[in-house]
Amino acid sequence: MSLPAVLARIEQACQRAGRDPRGVRLVVVTKEHPVAEIEEKVLRYGPFPLGESRIQEALPKLEALQAEWHFIGPLQRNKAKFAVRFELIHSIDSLRLAEAVARKAREAGKVQRVLLEVNLGREPQKHGFLEEELGEALARIRALEGLSVEGLMTVPPYSEDPEAARPLFARLAHLADRYQLPERSMGMSGDFEVAVEEGATLVRVGRAVFEPE
Ligand SMILES: *Cc1c(COP(=O)(O)O)cnc(C)c1O
Repeated sequence: MSLPAVLARIEQACQRAGRDPRGVRLVVVTKEHPVAEIEEKVLRYGPFPLGESRIQEALPKLEALQAEWHFIGPLQRNKAKFAVRFELIHSIDSLRLAEAVARKAREAGKVQRVLLEVNLGREPQKHGFLEEELGEALARIRALEGLSVEGLMTVPPYSEDPEAARPLFARLAHLADRYQLPERSMGMSGDFEVAVEEGATLVRVGRAVFEPE
């Protein structure tokens, strides 16, 4: 596809769901793509938020490109001081990680915006809180100075069929409502349209932007 094609599909999904397209932001996932390609395929269309999933790969890109950077991948506690350079961290998956990020945010004199990752598919190899852990974790993390918890994020189990993720996206939207969190980060290249229909406010799309059909 291309970035304009992805935007058009987001808009169509909004129409089907009776949603205002301004309520959905496209986060372009730029991992494995060099700065020149990001400029050519993304930033020529406007100042889109950019997502990276590995600190080491991301840091030189943050230096090179002025953008609203989001961190979307698994984060180790010893990298918290780098993570607070990002505008939004989507992947807070433990209380200890939240505490480490909060400490580094306070040291940097900022309030770090974060999302909590939820492992809705209950996959042992995946990161994120289990649903039943979320209420207590949220209460503790919301009490930390230096963090602002703005929403939830999920990565559903891999499937060829985008419809397989629909119930989990609906579940994430329901949980976000229950805990009065405005942001729902869900949907990737294979299933972003379903995610938008189910209430995504942030979709994280890489391949569909960078790869020709
Ligand atoms: C890579 C990645 C994406 C984007 O995946 P695509 O299939 O390339 O759209 C989204 N979210 C996370 C957490 C990722 O690591």
